[in-house]
Amino acid sequence: MTSDIYVLIEHLQGQVSEMSYMMLAAGRPLAEASGGNLVAMLLGQDAQELAADLDADRVLYVEHPALAEFSPDAYLRVLTDLIQQGNPRAVLMGETSIGADVAGTLSARLNLPIVSLCRNAYAEGGTLKFVSQIYGGKVLAEGDLPEPTTLMTMVPGDFKAEAGQSATAPEIVPISPPDLEGLKVTHKQFIEPEAGDVDIAKEPILIAVGRGIQQEMNLEIAQELAEALGGELCASRPVVDQGWMTTGRLVGKSGKTVKPKVYLAIGISGAPEHAEGIGDTELFIAINTDEQAPIFDIAKYGAAADLFDLIPAVTEKIKEAKGG
Ligand SMILES: Cc1cc2nc3c(=O)[nH]c(=O)nc-3n(C[C@H](O)[C@H](O)[C@H](O)COP(=O)(O)OP(=O)(O)OC[C@H]3O[C@@H](n4cnc5c(N)ncnc54)[C@H](O)[C@@H]3O)c2cc1C
Repeated sequence: MTSDIYVLIEHLQGQVSEMSYMMLAAGRPLAEASGGNLVAMLLGQDAQELAADLDADRVLYVEHPALAEFSPDAYLRVLTDLIQQGNPRAVLMGETSIGADVAGTLSARLNLPIVSLCRNAYAEGGTLKFVSQIYGGKVLAEGDLPEPTTLMTMVPGDFKAEAGQSATAPEIVPISPPDLEGLKVTHKQFIEPEAGDVDIAKEPILIAVGRGIQQEMNLEIAQELAEALGGELCASRPVVDQGWMTTGRLVGKSGKTVKPKVYLAIGISGAPEHAEGIGDTELFIAINTDEQAPIFDIAKYGAAADLFDLIPAVTEKIKEAKGG
């Protein structure tokens, strides 16, 4: 075993994901504490330039046409080799469509323990620790990272994406790919979601509505607030599943990643699959009747209050402040 910390870099259509930078930020203190290097694993085709701003000590770059887009089959073959050859202390992957797709199989294939849904990782007295959020984020489980090697899937939590970026390009180590012939799963095409009425990924002010809204007709309360603030509505999955909002307004794992200046989450519990879609936000406010709701762990400000009391009152105040 080495003391290195490996991070799987995710990228889509030429863009490194925010989660990848967050994982580099999470991995840095672990590498320092264990006395190893922070090593990024970048798989792709003509993707070397994506390494330029990664805050890693070195980047293991594997190039092959079969890696041009994510393929679980191809990634599994490459990652199995990289982990077996490198014997790192820990491997960080996103609890994302990509990371979650490969992490479980890697664990079984390499016979390595896995800790999923980690929102934090740190070192205490030389021991590496994890904080994993389970039961939809309602319980935080803490423990030691088993030796010699542990796989981890990470959710957005205590790390900022900027902390995983660097102005100095890291060393790139080209690695020959294993045999990638005869893959069972290959990428065919991207199917973009239908253009919605609004692109929430570009909106600066978002009012995100969750199951706590209870009924479709209650959306009006949120809509009035959005209008008063000059913002747009978006939603968590139950609201979209009910057909109360279009899929284009879904935030999270199966929806869009948003980066607004203001994100006001009302009646949303803060499950990891929703939190995954909230990128860097200057002002993140949550309103929820349950003061233990995990959304309060990631929001900057929170009100443990009934949205049906608070939202109309806030809307009224904003209208007053704007002169009616
Ligand atoms: C593979 C997969 C992909 C997924 N993708 C997504 C995704 O992209 N986006 C997504 O959002 N989810 C996604 N989910 C679902 C996710 O796990 C959660 O179930 C979902 O985010 C919960 O939505 P919610 O917070 O609105 O509802 P709940 O978890 O039911 O929370 C409702 C909250 O409202 C609060 N509340 C109730 N009444 C009031 C009131 N009067 N005033 C204030 N607060 C109130 C409650 O305290 C509660 O915290 C996915 C799940 C899976 C398995």
